[in-house]
Amino acid sequence: MKVLVTGGTGYVGSHTAVNLIEAGHDVVLWDNLSNSRAAVVERIGALVGTPPTFVQGDVRDAAGLDRLLEKQAFEAVIHFAGLKAVGESAQKPLLYYENNVQGTITLLRALEKAGVRTFVFSSSATVYGDPACVPIREDFPRAATNAYGRSKIMIEDMLSDLVAADPRWRIARLRYFNPIGAHESGLLGEDPQDVPNNLVPYICRVAVGREAVLRVFGADYETPDGTGVRDYIHVRDLALGHVAALRYLQAHPGMLTVNLGTGHGYSVLEVVKAFGQACGRPIPYEIVARRPGDVAQCYADVSAARRLLGWQAVHDLDAMCGDAWRWQERNPQGYET
Ligand code: NAD
Ligand code: UDP
Repeated sequence: MKVLVTGGTGYVGSHTAVNLIEAGHDVVLWDNLSNSRAAVVERIGALVGTPPTFVQGDVRDAAGLDRLLEKQAFEAVIHFAGLKAVGESAQKPLLYYENNVQGTITLLRALEKAGVRTFVFSSSATVYGDPACVPIREDFPRAATNAYGRSKIMIEDMLSDLVAADPRWRIARLRYFNPIGAHESGLLGEDPQDVPNNLVPYICRVAVGREAVLRVFGADYETPDGTGVRDYIHVRDLALGHVAALRYLQAHPGMLTVNLGTGHGYSVLEVVKAFGQACGRPIPYEIVARRPGDVAQCYADVSAARRLLGWQAVHDLDAMCGDAWRWQERNPQGYET
């Protein structure tokens, strides 16, 4: 298929582009580079033979999208473009609604006009808020605790209205749990522009000496060791989940909603230990107060993805940490090096 990948130079988008190309798809990346670098395109090229076409553009730019869609006939779109920092979304909610919600509306309008009706959307486990129990199934109630999460819920709802209004749409809402890791070559990885908010990118910075110590946000949760438990999924597994979702949509019109995780929860201290083993020295950490808005446990019931997509994650925590470390060690300043 000819696939438009918005946010394609970002962390998940770039890894997915590699798998799409490896699966034989023809890929065009569309990204405004607000949180990524054009150097990613050459790195993808180094992995797959030829760099994919990259167009610098914004999903809020209706005219720019129309021009692209007039020139090239796409069969599907994978929509990664968006802002994702939970803390920032609390400070700048309008920016998040404009970028994520308005950006998606503008994109969908352009696609409708061009007759492109296969659409894969990057949703998040954050839509479940603080779940009543784990593992989390897709039919659990959604309740966001921040503007970022609400923007995802709004888009999810918009997409189900769209499918209800026009059954020709084929839409996947993929709810990612916690993507970590990097391409095993060390050529692609996560490269946050600011001080990272997420656990593994922060540990990477500590391991490489850019930050002194990890702060563990709370050791008094009702979890086996008191620290927060999450479902970390290797970004390479996640990328393959998108290829599987596209395949599914080719055969099934309508709406698909699935969790993409491993189904296993790991605590912060388990991740710290595994990363220390991967990089060959312990990660210094201190226990501090809980981070507001954090939940104790979040991990997926992954049976729907297995049943519907024939997909499941295969990498374990050691592989995730090993690959994250290889990327960070070889690119201590990210793509700038
Ligand atoms: P990322 O920031 O690395 O990638 C997003 C890309 O979108 C960036 O390259 C950025 O430059 C681009 N972008 C942002 N706004 C844009 C706009 N208006 N027009 C064009 N491009 C724009 O983030 P990621 O981790 O790769 O996440 C991809 C998607 O997955 C996001 O929608 C995110 O909300 C979602 N998601 C991520 C996680 C995670 O932990 N990484 C978890 C759940 C869901
Ligand atoms: N965490 C931490 N220190 C950090 C960043 C995160 O202790 O510097 C913890 C956080 O409280 C949570 C887990 O690590 O229990 C995963 O956090 P992350 O921000 O990566 O993902 P999310 O909370 O969005 O699931």
